[in-house]
Amino acid sequence: MTAPHAIAAVIARLARDLGPGGVLTGDDVTARSCDPFTHVPPASPALLRPQSTEDVARIMRLCHDARQPVVVHGGRTGVCGGAVAQENELVVSLERMRRIIDIDPVSATMTVEAGAAIEAVQDAAAAHGLFYPIDLGSKGTATIGGTIAANAGGNRVIRWGMTRQNVLGLEVVLADGTVLDLLNRFLKNNTGYDLKQLFIGSEGTLGVVCKAVLRLVPLPTTQQVALVSLNRYGDVLELLGRARTLQQLSAFEVMWQDYYATVATDPARRIVDPGAEFFVLIECMGHSKAADEEAFSALLEHALEDGLLVDAVVASSARQVDDIWRVREGSEILMREMGPFVSFDISVDIRRADEFVAAVNAGLATSLGGYRAVAFGHLGDGNIHIGVHTGPATLAHKHAIERCVYDVVRDFGGALTAEHGIGTAKREFLPDHITPAALATMRTVRHALDPGRLINRNVLFEG
Ligand SMILES: Cc1cc2nc3c(=O)[nH]c(=O)nc-3n(C[C@H](O)[C@H](O)[C@H](O)COP(=O)(O)OP(=O)(O)OC[C@H]3O[C@@H](n4cnc5c(N)ncnc54)[C@H](O)[C@@H]3O)c2cc1C
Repeated sequence: MTAPHAIAAVIARLARDLGPGGVLTGDDVTARSCDPFTHVPPASPALLRPQSTEDVARIMRLCHDARQPVVVHGGRTGVCGGAVAQENELVVSLERMRRIIDIDPVSATMTVEAGAAIEAVQDAAAAHGLFYPIDLGSKGTATIGGTIAANAGGNRVIRWGMTRQNVLGLEVVLADGTVLDLLNRFLKNNTGYDLKQLFIGSEGTLGVVCKAVLRLVPLPTTQQVALVSLNRYGDVLELLGRARTLQQLSAFEVMWQDYYATVATDPARRIVDPGAEFFVLIECMGHSKAADEEAFSALLEHALEDGLLVDAVVASSARQVDDIWRVREGSEILMREMGPFVSFDISVDIRRADEFVAAVNAGLATSLGGYRAVAFGHLGDGNIHIGVHTGPATLAHKHAIERCVYDVVRDFGGALTAEHGIGTAKREFLPDHITPAALATMRTVRHALDPGRLINRNVLFEG
């Protein structure tokens, strides 16, 4: 651990090197939060604000020489504690590196600094008739660098894939200050290892992402959204199978009854009657208004005729599209109605997702007695989010709740985290969910790139 006087020397040197506004201390640091839902201030003595890749390289070279650990900050919307910084760590924030460097409409690519927010990137792409399809409830704040570090998924993975499928190139600064130029712009490039993929989803443990080349798609000009309710899980799967035959399908989000009933306590989000067992948000995005509307209507009409649906509401205006999406993105209602809760982000075989949710409920009832749980998620991708509340002392039982849910995940052969990552919050559960050989290989890779364990040292795994 770096001694306090050594940290002070690093901070003083960086204050000179980074210039005005380059280093924040005191209240300017503690007023921030490392977590989007609860105030967790960085315990760090200083927050560093580089303006360029060269600044980041300068920071990392100095920290490497002083053996000074750092934690990287993007938009701080991550929900697994990856941005939490301890008192012996300095924060490197990408908040002054937000430039859109170029947009190439011919090859449909954008080069951007890592501190740019997803929504800003989408707005810039839209001005050229293009679209960056990674879409999260946090898109106004979540950054390109943070979503690359997390390999974020979101609402439209069923159509366009995870972040990994939408990034062509990267520029990364390694722990020793080496600048790794991987700014590939080609769709096809098999020149050696595809090193960028190592950094995507590495949760910042292998280097600081400074720039990215993004793959864009034509901006959809039509959007159909419906909220439907169903009573049988088999019907949800049947509807998913039918919806998948539409090329325009861009989201298939499922909410179990307990989730919808909670969110529908807000009258503006009570779009259909909460009496059914399942609620599905279906979205299509395309380029041909009449044909897209016809295909979407046909899907719903046939599903109604065949008795799959209990009820269906189709958005007829942009406002109604937003209203329906707000049902699915009801995290503030969950906070109000169920806080504090422990949240989960897992993947399971889609065919067994309802059985999985029932097994989680049975496990919680056996081990905790009274509890309240809600389930929802990107079911078209096999990704389910679960929130569990056991009363005012929920956080005191956090570990017991996690152990119970993750045991069920393991029994179902599921994934510990579908999109949010391990961070600091799930570290202890990682060894139960991957093989010893996979864990050992991860350690080898990390050690090769950051032998001093200087970047995000508490993230992903210990030791
Ligand atoms: C309301 C809400 C909805 C959300 N919905 C989704 C969703 O649908 N799908 C989903 O996947 N996630 C979702 N998230 C989680 C979160 O938005 C994502 O994990 C996102 O990728 C975090 O980006 P960020 O810029 O905020 O990163 P941060 O929270 O700042 O950082 C996340 C991790 O990445 C590291 N990091 C950040 N920037 C860099 C960089 N430039 N180089 C290297 N490492 C870096 C950090 O050290 C940290 O470990 C949601 C969060 C909220 C609050």
